[in-house]
Amino acid sequence: MAGNLREVLPGVFETILPNEKKGINRVRVLILPGDPGERSLMVDTGYGTPSCQERVEWALATLGVECATLDLFVTHKHLDHCGLAAALAGKGARVHMNPVEDRHRYDALYQIMDSRDPAQVHLLGQVGITPEKQPEAWARFVRYDDQVKASVLYTIQPFDYTHVAGGDVFSCGGYRFHTVWLPGHTMGQMGLYEPDKKLFLCADQVIDGVAPIVGTSFPDEHLLAGYFRSLADIKHKYSDGLVIPAHGPYLGEYPAWAKGWAGAAPVPGVRHAVDKIVFAYLDKVDMIKHILDASKRRLTVMEVACIAYGIEKIPEGEWAFFQFKMIVTKAFSILEYLYEEEFALRTEIDGTLYWESATR
Ligand SMILES: [Zn+2]
Repeated sequence: MAGNLREVLPGVFETILPNEKKGINRVRVLILPGDPGERSLMVDTGYGTPSCQERVEWALATLGVECATLDLFVTHKHLDHCGLAAALAGKGARVHMNPVEDRHRYDALYQIMDSRDPAQVHLLGQVGITPEKQPEAWARFVRYDDQVKASVLYTIQPFDYTHVAGGDVFSCGGYRFHTVWLPGHTMGQMGLYEPDKKLFLCADQVIDGVAPIVGTSFPDEHLLAGYFRSLADIKHKYSDGLVIPAHGPYLGEYPAWAKGWAGAAPVPGVRHAVDKIVFAYLDKVDMIKHILDASKRRLTVMEVACIAYGIEKIPEGEWAFFQFKMIVTKAFSILEYLYEEEFALRTEIDGTLYWESATR
């Protein structure tokens, strides 16, 4: 089996990697072979599955890129972006990531890979999932343990990395990228911007046609507010060139130096894509505010998530359940935003956060 590989800009190669669980959720990996004597650069890795690994290794070999001289830039610590980081580091690649991604083990509600671990119990209790309050959801998380342990897809093997912060520079093959901190989709997400070429690798911050999940399981991190600020930045500073997200089509327009290079026309209008995401979130913010206003009692994050997203039953299916826990974290970030903006009150009782309207 060979993978797919195409030169999308001079010296920039793209390979699209699959997620066998869900065909549509494919991830873009970019490889820039270094000039002679120079290190090569790879942005994100795809999932930690054998088939992704086979395809990545094929792509690197086809381009003559050796792991020993490869810088792997991990935009954020989600399994579709760093699933192979440990494997590639083991072959000698140097991994780079913002250490803020590791301030907690993982951001999407289930991070410790054991629902009975005290830190994990605390995390689930915070959103209102305990054996007493939500036996069905709790039981599903316990069963998830086995699914996660049996699946390379959901496991992020630990890896060592060099710390990056906003403003670091990665030079490779005639490109000189500056790192840009993109809080929102995750707290420590980083993008790469080439100012002379007006080329912006924006990870999962802006994707055409979907509102990327702003998922946190931790209070007082102001993640949604940070996302709105970052999107405003993208709209005003980075929207006049070519924007390459990690999923879906490109955004913007090819700059003059690269006109029509890859053959496929990007979706025009980065600004429009940004606006759509902002308004989608504001819609949900408004909807969740109304849920709090209409409720006669205080609600947990999970209760709000189920009302807001019409979830009547905890999903049985593995992928549906994975999405369910992402939705709970999304509701969390929206509730936090309402709290910061003084539309909601937050009370902690026995480790669980309860939310009510502050404006009723
Ligand atoms: Zn992603």
